[in-house]
Amino acid sequence: MTSLSEIPARLAAVKQRIERAALDAGRAPESVRLLAVSKFHTPESIRRAYAAGQRDFGENYVQELRDKSDLLADLPDLRFHLIGHLQTNKVRQVVGVASRIHTVDSLRLVDELEKRQAQSSTTAVARPSHEEHVPAEARLRCLVAVNIAGEETKSGATPAEVPAIVERLRQSKHLLVDGLFTVPPLGPAETARPHFEALRALRDELGGARELPELSMGMSADLEVAIAAGATWVRVGTDIFGARPAHEGVQRDPTGREEQ
Ligand SMILES: *Cc1c(COP(=O)(O)O)cnc(C)c1O
Repeated sequence: MTSLSEIPARLAAVKQRIERAALDAGRAPESVRLLAVSKFHTPESIRRAYAAGQRDFGENYVQELRDKSDLLADLPDLRFHLIGHLQTNKVRQVVGVASRIHTVDSLRLVDELEKRQAQSSTTAVARPSHEEHVPAEARLRCLVAVNIAGEETKSGATPAEVPAIVERLRQSKHLLVDGLFTVPPLGPAETARPHFEALRALRDELGGARELPELSMGMSADLEVAIAAGATWVRVGTDIFGARPAHEGVQRDPTGREEQ
């Protein structure tokens, strides 16, 4: 396992890879943001990355996200993003805690998120929930998770389901949809390219970058390929924090990839 003291240098190396990949793709480096995936890593690891300037962190499990959010409540501007599959019965626990949900994958989930976000933003700023226009900062930002290769074992909406989910999100007053998310099938980095390109093509069919600017795709092994295909959020765990510690009761990596 990586020691805490190595985290700043590893983080800097990942940022350099991102910058180089963006420039190679003819893109502005600021157009790609880094989500540090901290699942199974300790709050102390997050503190190290935060001290080195990182603000956005990805977690796969609602309970773990909540626990870490409580333990790190003293860090201003720290943002947790949910990047694991979200069950409808967990929505209540994540609304008001996560700054963004990357994994909206059903109409039922949209409706539950809308209901809970309406309740939470009403109490937070004392705004009547019947008010017509809810300002962007009072809305919960969402991405639609797409099972881009139609894998049996993976969660995420099928590409055919995505338009209806995006539309339902657009109609939800307390939610804001601004992009798509995917995890491509397991394989060498280069095999991910057509899947990343397919996600981008799906986004282009749904109104393009003006409507859906964010593409959450690319991890430690394939972030360069994802950036070449248009990623705006790359989600990097291992190359920042080291191999994930074994976690009781979890046999498989939540991405559907085997732990190394
Ligand atoms: C764990 C995880 C990552 C990070 O994967 P690494 O290979 O460790 O960089 C990215 N995205 C999702 C959805 C994950 O579950």
